[in-house]
Parts: sequence; C-alpha cells; structure tokens
Amino acid sequence: MEREKRPPHYAEFRFYEELNDFLPPERKKRPFPYSFPGGASVKDAIEAMGVPHTEVDLIVVNGESAPFSYNLKEGDRVSVYPVFESFDIANLGLLRENPLRGIPRFVVDVHLGRLARYLRMMGFDTLYEPRYSDEDIAAIAKEDPGRIVLTMDRGLLKRAVITHGYCVRSQKWQEQLREVMLRCDLLDHVKPLSRCLACNGLIAQASKEEIAGSVPPERELSFESLTRCGQCGRVYWKGSHYVKMKKFIGDFLAGFAAGEGGQRGPMGHE
Ligand SMILES: [Zn+2]
Repeated sequence: MEREKRPPHYAEFRFYEELNDFLPPERKKRPFPYSFPGGASVKDAIEAMGVPHTEVDLIVVNGESAPFSYNLKEGDRVSVYPVFESFDIANLGLLRENPLRGIPRFVVDVHLGRLARYLRMMGFDTLYEPRYSDEDIAAIAKEDPGRIVLTMDRGLLKRAVITHGYCVRSQKWQEQLREVMLRCDLLDHVKPLSRCLACNGLIAQASKEEIAGSVPPERELSFESLTRCGQCGRVYWKGSHYVKMKKFIGDFLAGFAAGEGGQRGPMGHE
C-alpha cells in the first residue's frame, strides 16, 4: 500500500524551435514538469508528448547529450532540439551516427501525392505510390535509411526503423512544398523537369528511334523538344504544359526568396 502512494517521478522538459508545433499551448517554448513511470526512456517520454523521434536531433539532459535510450531520472532537466537546428553543437553528440549527405531523397505517404509530384517536378528522387501502406513505407525506410519519410502521420514517424523523417504540418500543398524545401535545404538542388512525374525515373533527351510511334505525326514536333523517361518510357515534349511548369518553378523559387508561397500550380485542380 505504501508503495502505491509514492509520488510519480518528475523531470523538467523544454522543447526548442519547431518541435513546439507538436505541443499544447501550455507546454510551448517554456520548461514544464513531466511525470513519468520509473524506467521510461527519454524517447518514450518525448513521443508520449506527441513529438515524433524523427523530428529530434539532439537531447541534452542536465547539460550533456543523451541517447534516445536514456532512462529518465527524478529531477532531470531535459532540452530537446529539432533536426537541423543551427547552433553550436561542436561539443555535443547528435543522435544519429549517419547524418544525411548529398541531395535529399524521399519516400512520401499516400496522403501527400501532390507534394510528391511537385518534388519530382523539382527534380528530387521521390518514391510514392497511392497503394503504399505504412508497412511499405517503413520497409522502404529500413532498406534505404538515407530516404526521408514525408508524412502527416506522427504514428508512422514513431516507428524505430524510420531514422529520417519529417512530419508535414500544412494542409496546403504549396505550403507543404515550401516546408520541405526549407527543412531539407533543397533550394540549391532544384533540377526542374529532370524526373518523370509518373514514375520518378530520370528524363533524358530521346533518340529518334525511341520516339518513333509515340507522338502523333500531325503534331510536327521538333526532335529537340522531346524527352523521354528512362524508366517507364513516357515521352515529354516542351509544349505549353512544359512552359507552364517551368514558369511555376521559376515563380515558386522567386516567391520563396521573397517569403511567399501561394502560387497556383500548373497541374490543375489546385
Ligand atoms: Zn517514367
């Protein structure tokens, strides 16, 4: 009986920057007490508060960096920092041994199809299929840990096999694209119209033989204006749609620099 009357353990937590997006107002941007059962890991506590572990890059407990597996103790002071937070971390260990290098690649969950198409349009390697289940996405992430999982589903990001992920906040695709470009620092890597919108394959100049039969002869298209997906064979030509897409990307990037994000897209039904 005595044992049951023991008070719960308390630790003090503070979350930084955009991690506050996941917290209720009374916990945002300030230290708050958090009660936990004995033996709880700091990862369990962070996720119980609604913050997916993939959003976290650094945990500092009582002034020292700690791994996700750290067991919380009474009176601990815990600071939790997001991925890509820019501050001096020279003396602290980041949680992931293998930070992402090179141009970011993605796997996108089924609710973000439009975002996936626009990422492809910008030239980013983006796996997406409307039939993907959460299990499929977790399996892809496990197989290829360099791929960043994009989803609005915090539950999916809580899976331990997913080491790199981003929880998309906005409901609007323009804002989603903007969020991902900022978060993953994509601006310098945009290669417009270099990837197939349908299958994610790379697009290249087509040979005459490859094109033969796939374009109606009455279209009188010049050979130079034709490109072809190396994976699915889909032919793209630099017609009005191409011009619209190119304009969209130009406007989007210009708006990006100016801090806007509300352009109308070239793919209809936006
Ligand atoms: Zn293709």
